[in-house]
Amino acid sequence: MKSSRFAAIANSQQRNSIAIEEKGRRSELFGVNVFNEHKMLQYLTKDALESLKDAMVSGSKIDRKIADQVAEAIKGWAISMGATHYTHWFQPLTGSTAEKHDAFFDLMPDGTALEKFGGGQLVQQEPDASSFPSGGIRNTFEARGYTAWDPSSPAFIYGTTLCIPTIFVSYTGEALDNKAPLLRALSAVDEAATAVAKYFDKNVTKVNATLGWEQEYFLIDKALAHSRPDIIMTGRTLVGETPAKGQQLDDHYFGVIPGRVLSFMSDLEKECTKLGIPVKTRHNEVAPNQFELAPVFEEANLAIDHNLLLMDVMDKIADKHQFTVLFHEKPFAGINGSGKHNNWSLATDTGVNLLSPGSTPMKNLQFLTFFINTIKAVDTYEELLRSSIASASNDYRLGANEAPPAIFSIFVGKQLSSVLDELEGVSKGKLSPEEKTELKLNVVGKIPEILMDNTDRNRTSPFAFTGNKFEMRGVGSKTNCAKPMTILNTIVAKQLKDFKKEVDSLIDKKSLKKDEAVFNILREYIKTSKRIRFDGDGYSQDWENEAKRRKLSNNRNTPEALEILTSRESLSLFESMKVMSEVEVRARQEVDLENYIMHTQIEGRVYNELVYGFIIPAAIAYQNTLIKNVSGLKEIYGAAHKKFSEGQLTMIEEIAEHVVSLKNMVDAMADARKKANALKDTKKKAQAYCNNVKPYFSDIRLHSDKLEKLMDNQLWPLTKYRELLNLK
Ligand code: ADP
Ligand code: MG
Repeated sequence: MKSSRFAAIANSQQRNSIAIEEKGRRSELFGVNVFNEHKMLQYLTKDALESLKDAMVSGSKIDRKIADQVAEAIKGWAISMGATHYTHWFQPLTGSTAEKHDAFFDLMPDGTALEKFGGGQLVQQEPDASSFPSGGIRNTFEARGYTAWDPSSPAFIYGTTLCIPTIFVSYTGEALDNKAPLLRALSAVDEAATAVAKYFDKNVTKVNATLGWEQEYFLIDKALAHSRPDIIMTGRTLVGETPAKGQQLDDHYFGVIPGRVLSFMSDLEKECTKLGIPVKTRHNEVAPNQFELAPVFEEANLAIDHNLLLMDVMDKIADKHQFTVLFHEKPFAGINGSGKHNNWSLATDTGVNLLSPGSTPMKNLQFLTFFINTIKAVDTYEELLRSSIASASNDYRLGANEAPPAIFSIFVGKQLSSVLDELEGVSKGKLSPEEKTELKLNVVGKIPEILMDNTDRNRTSPFAFTGNKFEMRGVGSKTNCAKPMTILNTIVAKQLKDFKKEVDSLIDKKSLKKDEAVFNILREYIKTSKRIRFDGDGYSQDWENEAKRRKLSNNRNTPEALEILTSRESLSLFESMKVMSEVEVRARQEVDLENYIMHTQIEGRVYNELVYGFIIPAAIAYQNTLIKNVSGLKEIYGAAHKKFSEGQLTMIEEIAEHVVSLKNMVDAMADARKKANALKDTKKKAQAYCNNVKPYFSDIRLHSDKLEKLMDNQLWPLTKYRELLNLK
């Protein structure tokens, strides 16, 4: 039998690293391909500049005349940079980004060129929306979709195309993308947090959510990746025996980065720098072939655009370096998966990080206010937050190896835990002067500016406070951060709004002083949100029972996790915060369920193909060799052959058993798929895939892996883990 495995291995062994020219300083390269403020100053009139800046900061509308001017300026700059096309760049619900390129110029019949890029083209475009998932919105409303410019994320040139970040909405106003709800959530948290921040500083007029993501990924030699149909079609290995030497030696983490990878990274960072993505750190991760890239944090909307752009750039640069990059959350069984930690905080336009402890008691009261409100928000909406990271691929990661579990809990560290314990004892109502002094001096005043234990050695708690930000760790490496960030900012906005109402009411009705009112409300929040605080690691076995005792949700799979999106409480939350209408929420749930079904269906089909097309034929070929050997021995030794062929006979039987099991299982699984496909209701269908189809996967894998161990290495048709996970 011919397999591409050995050709691929030979191919991969001949690779050399590509030399990357490092000319000039990174700082000079930064943002050269971005229409940033510096270029705006150069290309825009004063009026246009002010109007655009206003739109960027406050979200105000830009009038058409100004849009024309801005379009003209951007076009001039883009063409001077060698761009020939432009595109509206948007985030359909598929999870990635989409674009449709148009040339800047059209040729008229008389041979003259017509310039096509005016304010109209900048502000709005109508892509053929029919091929993007809408969760039924378009059928219900028979509405076409259009993309609309998001001036808060600057246009950039990628290759020879000017990319204009946009939202994607239907003509009846429903969001068809991930960005529009995100922008609404960011605006909600801005409004709510600004109002609360004003308790402490009247000069605050805007609060930005900040996001610093940490992207983990695997790099596999391109030829090797392409020799595995499962990697190419599903992004992960569906079968494969864990190698004798995996990650148990821990020799990869922060180890020396292999030359080819280093050259890929340099190339990638250069490209990112030009695109204004502020990449900062790079290192090996725990698993072999696994790496991480993290930028400096940015305003959340921009950070998310940059992450999506990065993933796209990574694909292209990896290809150039003869790599395939895997963003799947669990590409290899038995080896750590990949996540995308979302570091999140709130920053005022006066330059204050609201989750950073300060140098005075007042600053610390502000810190505690935002810190405790976030805890309270996560406690109230833990299940909703969990839903935002649900996907077929992340289901394989959550709760496995090093990964955080599907149960949400918050790590705050010893120091802050004791501060919270003390605050819990604050008196009800008015505080005596002594108590106030005591609080200021010994509780609030004692929070150090830098919290030593919060760098957090405990990497598996799903939501950890790490000194001056919260880190959400369950986010999958493939996920569009807009999803978790939309939910997180919405729930914090709602919480801060409620908090403000409660504090104001104590001030008005009980004539408490502002700080007394704040202490009083925070005390109650600390009491009522205790169950969500957990300073152990999120991975221990008894945590599941502990979570049950605390009445925390534990939705282990995507169909279960998505359920909460459309509960009455969730719908009213989204509606009241003006983040999503009921139609929009239902559409997202539908699309996510459909995605789940599709991914599981594809994996099921690939299993069939692997088993019938690769694994069984190889097993039979090897079995035939053994049979031939046994009959040969019999020919020579007659009845005495048993003495020499005992082992082979057992192996023949073992192979037969695995082959029978494999065949029965893939057939039964195909039946289960058929039954699932016949279901009309998307929720039921997703559940059927989850409960009746997917359980076959691990059993099929088990038999295949046993065969792999049993068989002649030369005859095994699929590139092995030790070969895939080997980089020079
Ligand atoms: P590590 O967690 O690896 O020790 P850091 O604590 O420096 O490293 O930061 C990790 C990530 O957190 C980085 O991506 C960084 O940009 C981000 N980060 C730091 N401060 C903030 C903040 N105020 N808001 C959002 N993200 C932040
Ligand atoms: Mg981190």
